[in-house]
Amino acid sequence: MRGAILHAPGDVRMEEREDPAIVNPTDAVISVAATCVCGSDLWYYRGVNAMSSPMPMGHEYCGVVEDIGAEVTKIKRGQFVVGSFLASDGTCPHCRAGHQSACQQRQSIGRLGAQAQALRVPLADGTLVAIPEHPTDDLLPNLLAASDVLGTGWFAAVAAGVRAGTVALVVGDGAVGLLGVLAARQLGAERIIAMSRHQSRQRLAREFGATDVVAERGDEGVARVLELTNGIGIDAVLECVGTRESMDQAVRCACPGGRVSMVGVPHGVNIDGAQLFRSQVFVGGGAAPVRRFLPDLLDLIWRRQIEPGRVFDLALPLDDVAEGYRAMDERRAIKAFLRP
Ligand SMILES: [Zn+2]
Repeated sequence: MRGAILHAPGDVRMEEREDPAIVNPTDAVISVAATCVCGSDLWYYRGVNAMSSPMPMGHEYCGVVEDIGAEVTKIKRGQFVVGSFLASDGTCPHCRAGHQSACQQRQSIGRLGAQAQALRVPLADGTLVAIPEHPTDDLLPNLLAASDVLGTGWFAAVAAGVRAGTVALVVGDGAVGLLGVLAARQLGAERIIAMSRHQSRQRLAREFGATDVVAERGDEGVARVLELTNGIGIDAVLECVGTRESMDQAVRCACPGGRVSMVGVPHGVNIDGAQLFRSQVFVGGGAAPVRRFLPDLLDLIWRRQIEPGRVFDLALPLDDVAEGYRAMDERRAIKAFLRP
């Protein structure tokens, strides 16, 4: 099969890779119907995260089950499935508590490389969710979004405590931030302020439910958010970037007793304990337990209640994966959709 390999920063190539096969009796092998490039792939592509050898890329996927191991009982050959970026067994204490991304047996899909024609999915019964029938093509981007960015944006809203009547702030206008807006809307937020400097992203944020857009950043951004809330600050802040600046902004915008969720892999984030103490703000999150939300999110998509796939503004054949990385790196695209 063909799949994407990152050789060095800026150098991602489609190559012939060994066909995936069942290794453990709990595995499934799927043919990938759609995959995509993630903002977190760019950390390696840009050389921010170190890499030691050529690595397969990609952790977002949906597709058709081609083969299952002897111990797989819930997932069947021929089903159309979506899974999250971390494989989880669904049975350990953390999984049962809804923290599947901290599963005691968790395995990274990224290391297996979902930007490929086929993929081995470990712990198939716990990881994969089947949809009722094979989807029409127009549903593919929506289903694929559920594999990571929608579930992560959803978790950002849940971890920030969004509920009916909440005033929410979304820091970050990447795919996760934009879908954090969608999630906050679905969970009943009364007012949703999106921070974005880019017109096309501002427009999509408004379409997903943002009531206000703040283009300023840093001190000016914080001042503008406080002004919009009569100096009170925000109940629920969704921090969807993961940099020191974005987290600082998020904490300073929250009101006393407010919650800041963190769902972007932190790079250089250093939260000052004394500042946190003074602010009386709660901060928490982590790698999103996307699997917790998948059944409900797939149901919303299947019933065409939400269209998270609108974050894909570039569609390419998988063979053009390098252009997908370039376009996202240069911020010409929010998110690149790839079809094998
Ligand atoms: Zn588990």
